[in-house]
Amino acid sequence: MRVAVLEKNGDRGWFALEGDRARRFDGDPFAGARLGSIEIAWSSADLRAPVRPSKIVCVGRNYAAHAKELGNEVPAEPLLFLKPPSSIIGPGEAVVVPKESERVEHEAELGVVIGRRVRRVAREQAMSVVYGYTCACDVTARDIQKREVQFTRAKSFDTFCPVGPWIETDLDPSDLAVRCTVDGAVRQDGRTKQMIFDIPTLIAFASSVMTLEPGDILLTGTPSGVGPLVAGNRAVIAIEGIGELGVGVVGSS
Ligand code: MG
Repeated sequence: MRVAVLEKNGDRGWFALEGDRARRFDGDPFAGARLGSIEIAWSSADLRAPVRPSKIVCVGRNYAAHAKELGNEVPAEPLLFLKPPSSIIGPGEAVVVPKESERVEHEAELGVVIGRRVRRVAREQAMSVVYGYTCACDVTARDIQKREVQFTRAKSFDTFCPVGPWIETDLDPSDLAVRCTVDGAVRQDGRTKQMIFDIPTLIAFASSVMTLEPGDILLTGTPSGVGPLVAGNRAVIAIEGIGELGVGVVGSS
C-alpha cells in the first residue's frame, strides 16, 4: 500500500493511493487509523512530506564505496547521527543552499519509517516495527562537515532532508536500486544490498540507544557518487519499488 499525505484547499490528511484514487484514513495510520469512505483523485491534490518524525536517525558510511570516496574507513559499528525534524521538506519543494556553505551535496538514501514505539528491539524482531519505506536525501554541507568534528551543523540546515513522495508499506528492502539524478544526469546508482549494516541491524542498534517512535525515520546511508547541488538544479531520488522524489535547489535569500 502507498500511504501519502495529501493537501487540497488547505486541508491536509493521510491517504492510501490506489491508481488515481486516494482514500482517506480516519486518523493517523501510525495510531491504527482505518481507511474511511472519502475518496479523491489524488492528482488534484499536492503531495506533502509523508513523515512527521520526532527525530531523523541517520547512518554514516554504510556503503563501502561511499566511505572510500570521502577517504573514510568503514566503521566497525554503525555510525549514528541525527538530523532535526525542521530539516524536512516534501515533494516539489526546494533545497535551500545556505550562505554559510560553498559545497552542498546530495546523498540519496532509503528511508525506513518506524511504525510503533520500541526500545532495545532484537535484530530478529526488528523488521516487525517497520511501517514502510520512502525515498530520502541526506543533504549535506560537505565543506562544513569536513572542518567540524560534529556532523550537526553540516546536516541540519532547514530543507536538508527531502522525503517522499509517499510511504510504501509492502516492500522487501534488502536489494533495491537507489539512484540520484541531477538535471537528468545519473550521479548515484547503488543497491541496498551493498549496505555494510543491514536494516534489522540498524534498527536494533539505534533502538539500543534511543526509543524509536511511530513516524520516526531512519536514513540508511548513501551509495557512492555524491556530488554538488547548486541553485537551479533539479534532483530526483528514485528507489525501486517506491517511486521518485523530485526536489529543486535554490540559493538562500
Ligand atoms: Mg547520509
